[in-house]
Amino acid sequence: MELKILTLKEDILGVNKETAAKNQARLDKHDILSINLMSSPGAGKTSLILQTIEKLKSETRIAVIEGDVASSFDAEKIHQQGVPVVQINIPGGCHLDASMTETALNTLPLEETDLLLIENVGNLICPAEFALGEHKKVILLSAPEGDNKPQKYPLMFIEADVVLVNKVDLLPYLDFNTTAFNQAVNELNPGVKIFPVSCKTGEGLEAWLSWLENEIKQVKNHRNS
Ligand code: MG
Ligand code: ZN
Repeated sequence: MELKILTLKEDILGVNKETAAKNQARLDKHDILSINLMSSPGAGKTSLILQTIEKLKSETRIAVIEGDVASSFDAEKIHQQGVPVVQINIPGGCHLDASMTETALNTLPLEETDLLLIENVGNLICPAEFALGEHKKVILLSAPEGDNKPQKYPLMFIEADVVLVNKVDLLPYLDFNTTAFNQAVNELNPGVKIFPVSCKTGEGLEAWLSWLENEIKQVKNHRNS
């Protein structure tokens, strides 16, 4: 598939919910598990997607939606892996919404997809407010950002199904307090899964990948039951 780049305008919050529900029904019809991946800029969303593709590509058919204010750097990297990808650019925007997702879905081979990874715009604030039709919300925080992000951006952490802490290979050089971080996340979202990972060294990725594989399996089992 050719790499497509779409330039789109933001939706308003009211209509968003309805469109998100429509998107989810459409993904369900195709037995696709969809993940809305959110983080600050530079936390490692694209690296996580590339690692996930590398590890799961042989058994899982993956498609990707890339959200960015401008450029298609991230989508190019994914395109090089031979995975269907569509880049959404939102000039002056700061989050993806459901109608953008709908437009992107129109360009992807849904019949041949098991897992849809949606990389939201790098921003810890409003992406949490706009449902896209995803089944799971995954928050990625990188250790250099500090351990107090849950207190500063609570909504993101309250909404998360999984919290990944990336760049843990740098922990020896940082003041990041893992115990304090885990405690803060648990206060906002009791029992949420927290996976420490390094997309650079590959450390900790098995836990993330096995969570993901299990979720994909549940979608397939649901179809067969
Ligand atoms: Mg990226
Ligand atoms: Zn926004």
